[in-house]
Amino acid sequence: MLKILLLLLLFIPYIPVSADDAEEDPLGDLIEDIIRKEKDATPKAEKAEPQPQQKSEPKQKPEPKQTPAKKKSNKIIVIDPGHGGKDPGTVKGRLYEKDIVLRLAKKIRDVSKKYKGIEVRLTRDRDIFLELPERAKIANRLDGDLFISLHVNSFKDETAAGMEIYHLDNTRNEYSRKLASVENKISGDVSTLEMILIDMDLTYYIDDSISYASSMAKNINKDLAGYKIKLRDYRKGALFYVLVGARMPSLLFEIGYISNPTDRALLQNDKFLEALARALLNSIAETKLK
Ligand SMILES: [Zn+2]
Repeated sequence: MLKILLLLLLFIPYIPVSADDAEEDPLGDLIEDIIRKEKDATPKAEKAEPQPQQKSEPKQKPEPKQTPAKKKSNKIIVIDPGHGGKDPGTVKGRLYEKDIVLRLAKKIRDVSKKYKGIEVRLTRDRDIFLELPERAKIANRLDGDLFISLHVNSFKDETAAGMEIYHLDNTRNEYSRKLASVENKISGDVSTLEMILIDMDLTYYIDDSISYASSMAKNINKDLAGYKIKLRDYRKGALFYVLVGARMPSLLFEIGYISNPTDRALLQNDKFLEALARALLNSIAETKLK
């Protein structure tokens, strides 16, 4: 309830002519203004609710909308095969993360044609390099309802195995932090601006992201029971740069460990990738957001 109040307060200075417009793109017009106002704020270690705006602020005229009213009949799922081009991701022999995730992404797209109401788009469908921030931007441009970045894990201990699903979070968990720093490939701390964006995204999309992740966990456990791969965790948050800025629920999916022999065999197994694609699509079709 408190959350709803805070959200209302946030919107008060921005309510455009029609209330419908306000619902369509909650972050679009807001975010630049908030960055301007808060860019000097110190980043907080704990996640925080965004502060309500002062009601006495002069009214900001919302930008005219470029797109007509959002009346989509299909759920648009943006799949982001991680890495690509000059960035192979994690490597084992001649096996590259960038190729595995591209294969799975295409599989998801192919299988999705059998699902009514789901439309799958890819951030890349070839072996090209994309900067991390570009990926969320593509998802926003496509007006996605869910953004999933696909990755492959690796660890020095080859017994480590299994899948993990993450959502965006400013987490203090040591393992997630380490993994995030590998996938982020950026050194040092994230900037204040990024922290603000992260706080914003958290408030709006974290619950929906977890709903999708929970549904995926259920379907993976059911549909992939015949394969020797386990879902390790699906409720972890981490600070993944690639998810920052996506104006939709977003997940980062580590589909297995390239360093583990059993996982590695599955990651190259076409039937397994197809079963995984189907499990993901079943989850998306089933997920009911509050
Ligand atoms: Zn990766």
